[in-house]
Amino acid sequence: METNITMHFTIEELYASKTANDKGINNKPSVREMVNLVYLAAYVLEPLRKAMGKPIIISSGFRCERLNKAVGGVSNSQHMKGQAADIDIQGDMAFGKKIFEYIRNHLPFDQLIWEHSKSGTYWVHVSFVYPDFGKNRKKVINDLLKK
Ligand SMILES: [Zn+2]
Repeated sequence: METNITMHFTIEELYASKTANDKGINNKPSVREMVNLVYLAAYVLEPLRKAMGKPIIISSGFRCERLNKAVGGVSNSQHMKGQAADIDIQGDMAFGKKIFEYIRNHLPFDQLIWEHSKSGTYWVHVSFVYPDFGKNRKKVINDLLKK
């Protein structure tokens, strides 16, 4: 059974991973990591979902250390704390850009990154730190507007 943590997001979709399933990695977050995922959903993902008026697909949320290594994540990745999510823009660059600009202009965030793989798949990485737990640096990397 799935558990909704906001109107449109379940906790399960924020740690689901095909790579973890394929490799037999138990990618279950701790309570603290789940708390971070709930804040990320409540402060960033759900307001974004409401503003866009259509589903926001998360390709990667929480990653345990093993999974983070398996997918080639950086060693200090905020995904490992449950503070980051990758938004799959499904090849729709205009939608991706809209998401990126909305987060930048209207939502709290720690890091906002326009990312792409070598094969040309684009996604939006966003992280958020609940203010009691640390600072949000509002760091924008690979700024779309500057290209
Ligand atoms: Zn990411």
